[in-house]
Amino acid sequence: MSSKLPRTADAVIVGAGIVGACCAHYLAAEGLRVLVLDRGWVSNGTTSAGEGNILVSDKNPGPELDLALLSMALWEDLGDKLGPGAELERKGGVVVASSESQYNALLLRARRQRMAGVEVAALDAHQLHSCEPQVSPRLTGACLYPQDMQIQPMLATAMLLAAPSRPGRIAFVGNCEVKSIETDLAGLVKTVKTALGQVATPVVVNAAGTWAGDLARMAGVAVPILPRRGFILVTEPLPQVIRHKVYSADYVANVSSDNEGLETSTVIESTRGGPILIGSSRERVGLDRMVDWSILATIASKAIAVFPFLAPMRVLRTYLGFRPYCPDHLPIIGPDPRSPGLFHACGHEGAGVGLAPATGALVAQSVVGRSSTLPLYPFRADRFDR
Ligand SMILES: Cc1cc2nc3c(=O)[nH]c(=O)nc-3n(C[C@H](O)[C@H](O)[C@H](O)COP(=O)(O)OP(=O)(O)OC[C@H]3O[C@@H](n4cnc5c(N)ncnc54)[C@H](O)[C@@H]3O)c2cc1C
Repeated sequence: MSSKLPRTADAVIVGAGIVGACCAHYLAAEGLRVLVLDRGWVSNGTTSAGEGNILVSDKNPGPELDLALLSMALWEDLGDKLGPGAELERKGGVVVASSESQYNALLLRARRQRMAGVEVAALDAHQLHSCEPQVSPRLTGACLYPQDMQIQPMLATAMLLAAPSRPGRIAFVGNCEVKSIETDLAGLVKTVKTALGQVATPVVVNAAGTWAGDLARMAGVAVPILPRRGFILVTEPLPQVIRHKVYSADYVANVSSDNEGLETSTVIESTRGGPILIGSSRERVGLDRMVDWSILATIASKAIAVFPFLAPMRVLRTYLGFRPYCPDHLPIIGPDPRSPGLFHACGHEGAGVGLAPATGALVAQSVVGRSSTLPLYPFRADRFDR
């Protein structure tokens, strides 16, 4: 990592979150000299709030699941490259149902996911208790997704940017806000102007997360990314009695909902250090950082309904973050036909950690003109123009 702004770069990535770091990794692997800029430091934005789940379980068949399956394979590879420091855990996910009708809906969805390449096993109430002995006896059944994983997103981001295996290929400059993007007479990206000076580059990657709309505007185009706030509770360190990532069946509906108002569903998991992370909420309230105690109380009581042993445990802290919400719940990935030289890697909402490697790989392929592992059409930037 460096603090001096180079005068040129093959590609400038705006945003040092997990998505920007993965773009840097795969662009450097293509042999490009990559400059990553952030107005803060590494993981200055939503990446520092992400729980780090890498999930296929919450995706319905379609382009997002295809992206998730590709990402899953790439995370496996990155996990091996980064080593134990990134805390990649192949822990599996368990989606629990609290009624017969919810259980039947889970089974139906699982059948469709299986046909799309997802590994999933149905668990009746008895099997669920063998799998997660602490869950409430009131739960009706569950689906187990062995492919689901977890990573520590801030550590992974820092390790990818440090890029020890590619010395000199990735430079990072923090405290360096990008102020404008200049184009030449033909409209091609030419220069990035920042708080610390300017950099000549033919390629800008918009990995500015929730603020990607502001960056796109600098290049004269629009992408409709909005903040979707979420709270997490962090308990005191506890013995590791929760074996998987466990979440309630209504989580999937909340993720894909367009509702601006508050939605809460239970997402629970242990961490290597001992604290249990309990989420989560979703609401579109702009960038309001005010803590809402009633939301925290709802999250806590829903978690206790799944794991009654949590009732007497203490919450040590709570935090919030702003997911980069895109109206059709798909990220924006690839070249922007309206601004040659501008590439997007943004709008992943609550799945940016999981989807980051596939996003980075697809962006790198499109920058160097290689054929794409997945069709980019569903993720194109101008799909909202109509
Ligand atoms: C409570 C919560 C839980 C979550 N849990 C999960 C999870 O379990 N799994 C999962 O996959 N995802 C999860 N997410 C979502 C995930 O955290 C995000 O999708 C992901 O972090 C987005 O990463 P990013 O790199 O795109 O954006 P960010 O991490 O926000 O990075 C964007 C960066 O761009 C920088 N920037 C913006 N504008 C400029 C500019 N003009 N100049 C310079 N720098 C700029 C910002 O400072 C920031 O550092 C969760 C989110 C929340 C809020």
